[in-house]
Amino acid sequence: MDILLMGPPGAGKGTQGALLAENLQLPKFATGDLLRDAVKRGTPLGQRAKAVMEAGHLVSDDIILGIVREELAKPEASQGVIFDGVVRTIPQAEGVDRLLLERGRRMDAVLFFDVTDEEILSRLAKRRDVEKRADDDPAALATRLSAYRKQTA
Ligand code: ADP
Repeated sequence: MDILLMGPPGAGKGTQGALLAENLQLPKFATGDLLRDAVKRGTPLGQRAKAVMEAGHLVSDDIILGIVREELAKPEASQGVIFDGVVRTIPQAEGVDRLLLERGRRMDAVLFFDVTDEEILSRLAKRRDVEKRADDDPAALATRLSAYRKQTA
Protein backbone atom coordinates (compact mmCIF):
# COMPACT_ATOMS: atom_id res chain seq x y z
CA MET A 1 0.00 0.00 0.00
CA ASP A 2 1.29 3.44 -0.94
CA ILE A 3 0.19 6.35 1.24
CA LEU A 4 1.01 10.03 0.76
CA LEU A 5 1.08 12.41 3.73
CA MET A 6 0.54 16.06 2.93
CA GLY A 7 0.23 19.22 5.01
CA PRO A 8 2.18 22.27 6.15
CA PRO A 9 5.54 22.11 7.97
CA GLY A 10 5.00 21.09 11.59
CA ALA A 11 1.61 19.49 10.94
CA GLY A 12 2.73 16.14 12.34
CA LYS A 13 3.40 14.16 9.15
CA GLY A 14 6.65 12.77 10.53
CA THR A 15 5.17 11.73 13.87
CA GLN A 16 2.04 10.09 12.45
CA GLY A 17 3.98 8.65 9.51
CA ALA A 18 6.29 6.77 11.87
CA LEU A 19 3.26 5.23 13.63
CA LEU A 20 1.66 4.27 10.32
CA ALA A 21 4.91 2.76 9.07
CA GLU A 22 5.22 0.65 12.20
CA ASN A 23 1.61 -0.49 12.12
CA LEU A 24 1.58 -1.32 8.43
CA GLN A 25 5.15 -2.65 8.37
CA LEU A 26 6.09 -0.35 5.51
CA PRO A 27 9.13 1.91 5.11
CA LYS A 28 8.59 5.62 5.75
CA PHE A 29 10.31 7.83 3.25
CA ALA A 30 10.74 11.56 3.99
CA THR A 31 12.54 13.68 1.40
CA GLY A 32 13.32 16.25 4.13
CA ASP A 33 15.12 13.63 6.29
CA LEU A 34 17.02 12.22 3.33
CA LEU A 35 18.12 15.70 2.20
CA ARG A 36 19.17 16.74 5.73
CA ASP A 37 21.26 13.59 5.99
CA ALA A 38 22.89 14.34 2.61
CA VAL A 39 23.71 17.89 3.78
CA LYS A 40 25.22 16.56 7.01
CA ARG A 41 27.38 14.08 5.12
CA GLY A 42 28.37 16.66 2.50
CA THR A 43 27.47 14.44 -0.47
CA PRO A 44 27.08 16.05 -3.94
CA LEU A 45 23.28 16.02 -3.39
CA GLY A 46 23.76 17.68 0.00
CA GLN A 47 26.01 20.34 -1.49
CA ARG A 48 23.37 21.16 -4.10
CA ALA A 49 20.53 21.29 -1.57
CA LYS A 50 22.14 22.99 1.45
CA ALA A 51 21.65 26.71 0.74
CA VAL A 52 18.18 26.21 -0.72
CA MET A 53 17.03 24.26 2.32
CA GLU A 54 18.54 26.61 4.85
CA ALA A 55 16.72 29.54 3.25
CA GLY A 56 13.44 27.57 3.41
CA HIS A 57 12.93 27.26 -0.36
CA LEU A 58 11.93 24.10 -2.19
CA VAL A 59 14.58 21.88 -3.73
CA SER A 60 14.06 21.39 -7.51
CA ASP A 61 11.54 18.89 -8.82
CA ASP A 62 14.28 17.07 -10.77
CA ILE A 63 16.26 16.42 -7.60
CA ILE A 64 13.17 15.23 -5.71
CA LEU A 65 11.99 12.91 -8.49
CA GLY A 66 15.50 11.46 -8.81
CA ILE A 67 15.46 10.65 -5.10
CA VAL A 68 11.98 9.09 -5.32
CA ARG A 69 13.04 6.95 -8.26
CA GLU A 70 15.99 5.59 -6.26
CA GLU A 71 13.82 4.98 -3.23
CA LEU A 72 11.23 3.02 -5.21
CA ALA A 73 13.97 0.81 -6.66
CA LYS A 74 14.88 -0.49 -3.19
CA PRO A 75 13.64 -4.02 -2.41
CA GLU A 76 12.13 -2.89 0.91
CA ALA A 77 9.88 -0.45 -0.98
CA SER A 78 8.32 -3.21 -3.12
CA GLN A 79 5.21 -3.64 -0.95
CA GLY A 80 4.50 0.07 -0.59
CA VAL A 81 5.82 3.21 1.05
CA ILE A 82 4.60 5.88 3.46
CA PHE A 83 5.56 9.07 1.58
CA ASP A 84 6.12 11.90 4.08
CA GLY A 85 6.31 15.41 2.63
CA VAL A 86 7.47 14.02 -0.71
CA VAL A 87 5.02 15.82 -2.99
CA ARG A 88 5.09 19.63 -2.82
CA THR A 89 4.45 20.79 -6.37
CA ILE A 90 2.22 19.71 -9.24
CA PRO A 91 5.16 18.34 -11.33
CA GLN A 92 6.20 16.27 -8.30
CA ALA A 93 2.65 14.89 -7.95
CA GLU A 94 2.61 13.98 -11.64
CA GLY A 95 6.12 12.53 -11.45
CA VAL A 96 5.42 10.35 -8.42
CA ASP A 97 2.24 9.06 -10.09
CA ARG A 98 4.29 8.17 -13.16
CA LEU A 99 7.04 6.44 -11.15
CA LEU A 100 4.46 4.36 -9.28
CA LEU A 101 2.67 3.50 -12.51
CA GLU A 102 5.95 2.21 -13.99
CA ARG A 103 5.79 -0.37 -11.19
CA GLY A 104 2.10 -1.12 -11.71
CA ARG A 105 1.13 0.83 -8.59
CA ARG A 106 -0.88 3.89 -7.73
CA MET A 107 -1.19 6.04 -4.62
CA ASP A 108 -3.74 4.19 -2.48
CA ALA A 109 -4.48 7.02 -0.06
CA VAL A 110 -3.60 10.64 0.55
CA LEU A 111 -3.85 11.96 4.11
CA PHE A 112 -4.05 15.71 4.51
CA PHE A 113 -2.99 17.21 7.84
CA ASP A 114 -4.96 20.40 8.34
CA VAL A 115 -3.41 22.62 11.01
CA THR A 116 -3.80 26.38 11.57
CA ASP A 117 -0.84 28.74 11.09
CA GLU A 118 -1.05 29.76 14.73
CA GLU A 119 -0.64 26.16 15.92
CA ILE A 120 2.19 25.55 13.44
CA LEU A 121 4.16 28.56 14.59
CA SER A 122 3.85 27.52 18.22
CA ARG A 123 4.87 23.90 17.50
CA LEU A 124 7.83 24.87 15.35
CA ALA A 125 9.09 27.34 17.95
CA LYS A 126 9.24 24.39 20.37
CA ARG A 127 10.87 22.09 17.83
CA ARG A 128 13.49 24.71 17.12
CA ASP A 129 14.60 24.57 20.76
CA VAL A 130 14.79 20.77 20.68
CA GLU A 131 16.12 19.89 17.20
CA LYS A 132 18.00 23.12 16.42
CA ARG A 133 17.18 22.93 12.72
CA ALA A 134 18.60 25.90 10.80
CA ASP A 135 15.39 26.20 8.78
CA ASP A 136 13.18 26.59 11.87
CA ASP A 137 14.55 30.10 12.43
CA PRO A 138 11.85 32.78 11.96
CA ALA A 139 12.95 34.01 8.50
CA ALA A 140 13.38 30.55 6.98
CA LEU A 141 10.17 29.38 8.58
CA ALA A 142 8.23 32.27 7.04
CA THR A 143 9.67 31.29 3.63
CA ARG A 144 8.70 27.64 4.17
CA LEU A 145 5.13 28.55 5.06
CA SER A 146 4.90 30.80 2.04
CA ALA A 147 6.36 28.07 -0.22
CA TYR A 148 3.73 25.71 1.20
CA ARG A 149 0.90 28.14 0.46
CA LYS A 150 2.10 29.13 -3.00
CA GLN A 151 3.46 25.86 -4.36
CA THR A 152 1.97 23.01 -2.33
CA ALA A 153 -1.46 23.87 -0.92
P1 ADP B 1 9.00 20.75 6.61
O1 ADP B 1 7.93 19.98 5.93
O2 ADP B 1 8.80 20.82 8.09
O3 ADP B 1 9.31 22.06 5.95
P2 ADP B 1 10.99 18.81 5.78
O4 ADP B 1 11.96 18.16 6.68
O5 ADP B 1 9.93 17.96 5.20
O6 ADP B 1 10.38 20.02 6.58
O7 ADP B 1 11.77 19.53 4.58
C1 ADP B 1 12.87 20.38 4.85
C2 ADP B 1 13.31 21.05 3.56
O8 ADP B 1 13.71 20.05 2.61
C3 ADP B 1 12.23 21.85 2.83
O9 ADP B 1 12.10 23.15 3.36
C4 ADP B 1 12.79 21.84 1.41
O10 ADP B 1 13.87 22.74 1.27
C5 ADP B 1 13.35 20.44 1.29
N1 ADP B 1 12.34 19.48 0.77
C6 ADP B 1 11.90 18.36 1.40
N2 ADP B 1 11.01 17.71 0.64
C7 ADP B 1 10.88 18.43 -0.50
C8 ADP B 1 10.09 18.28 -1.69
N3 ADP B 1 9.25 17.26 -1.89
N4 ADP B 1 10.23 19.24 -2.64
C9 ADP B 1 11.08 20.27 -2.52
N5 ADP B 1 11.83 20.48 -1.42
C10 ADP B 1 11.73 19.56 -0.42
